[in-house]
Amino acid sequence: MIFHEHFDVIVVGGGHAGTEAALAAARMGMNTLLLTHNMDTLGQMSCNPAIGGIGKGHLVKEIDALGGAMAKAIDKGGIQFRTLNSSKGPAVRATRAQADRALYKAEIQAILQGQENLKIFQQSCDDLIVEGDKVTGVVTQMGLKFSAQSVVLTVGTFLGGQIHIGLENFQGGRAGDPPSIALARRLRELPFRVDRLKTGTPPRIDARTVDFSKMQTQPGDTPTPVFSFMGKASDHPQQIPCYITYTNEKTHEIINNNLHRSPMYSGVIEGIGPRYCPSIEDKIVRFADKDKHQIFVEPEGLTSYELYPNGISTSLPFDVQMDIVRSISGFENAHICRPGYAIEYDFFDPRDLKPSLETKFINGLFFAGQINGTTGYEEAGAQGLIAGMNAALQVQGKDAWTPRRDEAYTGVLIDDLATLGTKEPYRMFTSRAEYRLLLREDNADLRLTAKGRELGLICDERWAAFNDKLEVMEQETQRIRSTWIHKDHPSLDSVNDLLKAPLTREASLEELIRRPEIDHKALYAISGLESPSSNEAALEQVAIQTKYAGYIARQQDEIAKQLRHEETLLPKDFDYSQVSGLSNEVVAKLTDARPDTIGQASRISGITPAAISLLLVYLKKQG
Ligand code: FAD
Repeated sequence: MIFHEHFDVIVVGGGHAGTEAALAAARMGMNTLLLTHNMDTLGQMSCNPAIGGIGKGHLVKEIDALGGAMAKAIDKGGIQFRTLNSSKGPAVRATRAQADRALYKAEIQAILQGQENLKIFQQSCDDLIVEGDKVTGVVTQMGLKFSAQSVVLTVGTFLGGQIHIGLENFQGGRAGDPPSIALARRLRELPFRVDRLKTGTPPRIDARTVDFSKMQTQPGDTPTPVFSFMGKASDHPQQIPCYITYTNEKTHEIINNNLHRSPMYSGVIEGIGPRYCPSIEDKIVRFADKDKHQIFVEPEGLTSYELYPNGISTSLPFDVQMDIVRSISGFENAHICRPGYAIEYDFFDPRDLKPSLETKFINGLFFAGQINGTTGYEEAGAQGLIAGMNAALQVQGKDAWTPRRDEAYTGVLIDDLATLGTKEPYRMFTSRAEYRLLLREDNADLRLTAKGRELGLICDERWAAFNDKLEVMEQETQRIRSTWIHKDHPSLDSVNDLLKAPLTREASLEELIRRPEIDHKALYAISGLESPSSNEAALEQVAIQTKYAGYIARQQDEIAKQLRHEETLLPKDFDYSQVSGLSNEVVAKLTDARPDTIGQASRISGITPAAISLLLVYLKKQG
């Protein structure tokens, strides 16, 4: 049966990628369908109930700067907020929030249901309709056909999902959800390179059986950080602490004695797991010299008794999980309410994607999220937004857009995936970006919101707030340049109290802010030097731009140099063996990766600057 309505964009999968993809396409005015297994699991966090962290927080701010949902939802659902790296420079500072799982999910569902142009349909997608090299729709489990101009697949860990607990294993998309078997089979018939990855989750613990007095308490920050550029701390629900405990020698002994029952160490699991989020058995083996590992004990919600013991993800058998948990201080009498497990799933080599996240082999078909080899809600959300937006741009007959590496972590993420591919679940870190000082959490709106508005992603309310901020920034920049502290200034003594050495000549507020010891908030708290604006974000922005002006200018110069060749196109059928001087290895790597631009080619591992010069010379000769 064919569904009566034709859609512009169909998004398959209502996880973090699918949610942002569907919302982005709908915000851009596309008649959009979100087709998902189960409407009740929209906005579900498969693993830890937390959003953000180093590198990931940057992605959340970028999603928000482009009008997405994740930051808004966590502002309404976050029960402990912290700024990580708060003592370090602004480039690596990152916001992280513990989520009340149920509140977060409810907020995502409310946003989805309130979105114009978006319809949701609950059913498994079992097949794609492909005509020639173009996708034209999807088929559901009950044979219902939906037609569309573009399709975005965001099916997470569900493709051929296999759950492991000890040596037992069974099919599943994640605990409690069915896998996608028919769709996985269909996708394997298409010309994409496919492989297996794995990820895991810890057992959940009943808080009523835990002795918190044996653990360290970890409160959130005050004042409470906020994720969305449109949010405020008063949006947050009640704030509660997390706790810290540790594994010990007994825990490690239990694990070592049972490694032969681990699906990973007995060879049952073949997929590669996340290096930076290893299972506890992995940590014990890889870091054998460590006598303890930290565990963050995180509440799952304000009305839930479940705790998420962050740091003991495991796929060991349930009886071993019990022993592990009960060997840990504070967990001696703990009741496990959900066992930990590992899941193996299909992912597709992201080098088969264009930077728009459209597949190279099937026009109109986009992939986003865990299906591309990433791990994490934030990585999924950022890709989803870009895929949904590019699916919409394609329907509108417009050019695709993806931020460059110097514009956004989202750009770094997609470029890394499409250029280098990945052999293990890919997660974001600040160290992956070359231009960290420019890609800060605090300026994500300045980097992206105007572009988002041009693309149709930004509503009037956000656009007005953004322009107000720009105006305050402009006025503040003028004010700090024109406010001088001279020897007779009534605030001179208070200013000198903030300085390492007293002023010997007059100085503007701008010069003072550049001093490392000056905190703009302390400076503006001095009577007579207060800013007329209460827009904290705008004032902080001016202060950061002022303090780091020299470094920022240097990075911008580097980018300008890099950009000269970054976008030089490499023909699709380029025969690299014709370029004299290139080694066989370089020819093989370039032929395999088929980069679209010189910029992409330069980031393939093993492609040297000398090889890039040879390519440029060759291209120049060809005219
Ligand atoms: P998902 O959030 O998985 O959403 C996929 C959606 O697609 C689901 O709603 C599903 O119902 C739907 N769907 C699937 N197939 C179909 C179909 N055929 N038709 C219709 N709908 C379909 N991330 C970390 O950062 N750290 C971790 O430690 C970590 N551990 C994890 C442990 C486990 C056990 C699991 C399952 C995930 C873990 N993750 C972890 C990953 C994190 O959950 C994902 O990266 C993130 O959820 C990916 O988002 P997504 O939108 O790509 O997919």
